[in-house]
Amino acid sequence: MTPRRIIILGSTGSIGTSTLDVVAHLNHLHSQGQYPDRFDVVGLAAGHNCNLLAQQASRFNCPTTACSRPDSPATFKGPTAALDLIHAVDCDIVMAAIVGSAGLPATLAAVQLGRDVALANKETLVAAGALVIPAAVRSGARLLPVDSEHSGVWQALMGINPAPLAPPLKAPDSVRRVTLTASGGPFRTWSIEQIRHATREQALRHPTWSMGAKVTIDSASLMNKALELIEAHWLFELPPEKLAAIIHPQSIVHAIVELTDASVLAQLATPDMRTPIQAALSFPRRSSGAAPRLDLASLSRLEFETPDPAKFPALSLADHVMRLGQSSGAILNAANEEGVAAFLDPDRNLPFHCIAELAREALETLPIGPLRDLSDLAEAESLARDLVRRRAAVAPVGVR
Ligand code: NDP
Repeated sequence: MTPRRIIILGSTGSIGTSTLDVVAHLNHLHSQGQYPDRFDVVGLAAGHNCNLLAQQASRFNCPTTACSRPDSPATFKGPTAALDLIHAVDCDIVMAAIVGSAGLPATLAAVQLGRDVALANKETLVAAGALVIPAAVRSGARLLPVDSEHSGVWQALMGINPAPLAPPLKAPDSVRRVTLTASGGPFRTWSIEQIRHATREQALRHPTWSMGAKVTIDSASLMNKALELIEAHWLFELPPEKLAAIIHPQSIVHAIVELTDASVLAQLATPDMRTPIQAALSFPRRSSGAAPRLDLASLSRLEFETPDPAKFPALSLADHVMRLGQSSGAILNAANEEGVAAFLDPDRNLPFHCIAELAREALETLPIGPLRDLSDLAEAESLARDLVRRRAAVAPVGVR
């Protein structure tokens, strides 16, 4: 059988390295005759970590690399390196795991070329769902969810209609509501006042998942869940009134799909990203997993609670964006990225609660217009970034 050729965008990050673990695992199964396909890594793209990129390329015999550092020894270098890699190297599947909107042009190009795209980068659909989904429909690209909650929704939907469905797809009318779970992050039991004074170290200490810095901060504010609700809205064509989020501190149940006949389908797994990554890479096959199995008997309880909107104001921004459409997702995403960067930067020291406040301000005050192409997107993003930069630098008293 011909190998499946894979390009991994963001190979040096948390999802990227887990993806390489899954590739090694599936290739091992293949060598034992337990999995039909072999994966060939034909392209790897990274941001700054040239050393790890070179080690990965050597370990996986990957001929072509891309690095955003202009001084890197990679095959393609500079700000458009990942995009150049997608255009230059033929492949069957692309793992989109660059963090933030930096990954968008290369992901959109992969979709336009009709590749299968394993989508970890949630910012892609939040900022540019209006460009990416129609492009996927035109090219026939399949968007294979990697975010654990969307993978859970996807797997539950396949339980309703057992055909091997690949998003983008419309959830059937028999779906009454889709609920995404959130761990609640490190501040779940904190008071509003304590959260206002949270430090970087506290926000970076996630109780259940090990992830990159940006998504960890988003998880602490629940902005991550807001972004995921918008992502689910695009992937499964679900209206905001059919989408909800619930706090589930154990991170075992990832998504819950409620049907009109009152049946409820949930997807459960240990909190290990190798499971949804493998489900995406091996779709529609299922095989022995790289991650630890779930032992329900060893869990003392599974808890659920309603998120407090006063403690986690970021969550309600999802509903605004799903209803506003157009460039609102790009504005929310860019304002949040800029806010997280200002919170993480010791020189700027933006208070934690200001991340969501400035994102709301950007949504309420900036013009929202049509999203026809990447230049509309760039303009919306730049307005949002400027606003957050200015407010974070000069109006700390008012904002804080
Ligand atoms: P990390 O911060 O760990 O990794 C980010 C990756 O993006 C790194 O490989 C980094 O390269 C690369 N990168 C950054 N900027 C560029 C650029 N301009 N060009 C090329 N590569 C770039 O993030 P995660 O792996 O945690 O997250 C990746 C995406 O997946 C995010 O969108 C996140 O929301 C999503 N996600 C992550 C989950 C997780 O468990 N981690 C779960 C679900 C979704 P370098 O390190 O070399 O600079």
